[in-house]
Amino acid sequence: MTEEKTARPHRARPESLEALGFPGELPEDWQQRAVAALGRRVRKQPDLRFFLNACVKCGACNDACHAFLGTGDPGNRPVARQDLLRAVHRRHFTLAGRLFPKLVGALDLDEAMLERWYSYFHQCSECRRCATFCPFGIDTAEITMAARSILAEIGLGQKSVAEVIAKVHRTGNNLGLNPRALRHTLDSLEEDVREETGMDIRFPLDEAGADILLVTPSADFYSEPHVSGLIGYAKVLHAAGISWTLSSHASEAANFALFLGSDEHMRRIARRIQEAAEELGTSRLVFGECGHAWRVAYNFPALLGGDVPRPRHILDLTHELIGNGIIRLDPSRNAGMAVTLHDSCNVARGSGMGVHPGGQLDIPRAVLAAAVPRTVEMPAGTTGDRTFCCGGGGGLLTDEMMEIRIKGAAPRAAALRQAVEGSGATHMAAICAICKSQFSEVLPHHGFDRGMVVGIMQLVGRALVL
Ligand code: SF4
Ligand code: SF4
Repeated sequence: MTEEKTARPHRARPESLEALGFPGELPEDWQQRAVAALGRRVRKQPDLRFFLNACVKCGACNDACHAFLGTGDPGNRPVARQDLLRAVHRRHFTLAGRLFPKLVGALDLDEAMLERWYSYFHQCSECRRCATFCPFGIDTAEITMAARSILAEIGLGQKSVAEVIAKVHRTGNNLGLNPRALRHTLDSLEEDVREETGMDIRFPLDEAGADILLVTPSADFYSEPHVSGLIGYAKVLHAAGISWTLSSHASEAANFALFLGSDEHMRRIARRIQEAAEELGTSRLVFGECGHAWRVAYNFPALLGGDVPRPRHILDLTHELIGNGIIRLDPSRNAGMAVTLHDSCNVARGSGMGVHPGGQLDIPRAVLAAAVPRTVEMPAGTTGDRTFCCGGGGGLLTDEMMEIRIKGAAPRAAALRQAVEGSGATHMAAICAICKSQFSEVLPHHGFDRGMVVGIMQLVGRALVL
């Protein structure tokens, strides 16, 4: 097996990085800056310090990683990925590394190492599966985020991620939609739902005083109807008689700053949502189906501090409304479907849901079971906190990363095949806009129809008795 360092996302343009406060190009003193940034990050983050020092090289994490399993590239072994940062840390921040670098595996951050950082830290989807297999809980995602943040600090940001963050700061969403375009899209959805149901179901925007501010991934505005959750959210809230609104100031749940490892930008995007809620006089925040957005939202109290409440997930709310009889679902409206659930890694491993431990696993299953005639589980070892990443998370969802995305989806596709052949699954549901988009594109490369992927809230919308 040899390393394939060719998989790397496009670099951000200088103006995109400068808009985020990073240098546009690699400065002359990039090595010193990178080492200083590493030192700062390790001082600030005790868990990172532990992760860099605790590994015993047992290798238990290696076969956990979809990127390694799918590509066979040894550079994608989690421990190899970690070692890229570990070796540089050891070189500069340990006595043995300074005095006897070769003896202790300490390495300089030279141009070749920088290239490996850029390539391999952008092939990690920050999914954390490896951490669940490590006896010490070493979390490669944290190491990846630290490395990416250092890369951005020396002018080596990823194009799609940096540009999307800049767009959210400017317009409030990843797509750069202005309020008129948003309203136009919502009008079209109202029209579609009127045609389907004969009812006037509203998609409100910027309505002050609503009970709920709904924040959803902007992908929901334009996704194909079989995966977008927006119609499902609107129908459920309408049926429950809950007043709600979207916001043009914060029309994005996704928070790509997580992929850049930038706490500052993550906080800025999160604050924008808080500002929108305050401006609209809305105290309850509900998030739509987006895995990493929910991971950030679940951590709002820690991220934003003060007495910021934790937002609620749309599935948690829907689950409650079903449970107390306020809404009713008729699974026969999804006749013929046997649906298996792809646990999205950022939800399954990066957050909770509802008030009970494990709610992030139980609640999606309970809502799915209420919406379709039959559910089936994926094979053991590929569900819950052992779920495989879709292969497109962590900022990998770009065209230039397609080859690694297809290979990285192989473990999930193999599990899906077992669910289809062994249990008769006809569809796979996901609760993440990135998972849904990734699967729609890559599953055909593994012999499945792209229409096999569905969103839970879309199924709920179809099953809802109005
Ligand atoms: S976080 Fe996920 S993608 Fe990254 S090394 Fe671990 S298992 Fe692989
Ligand atoms: S499982 Fe943990 S200790 Fe073992 S090699 Fe992987 S990161 Fe190191």
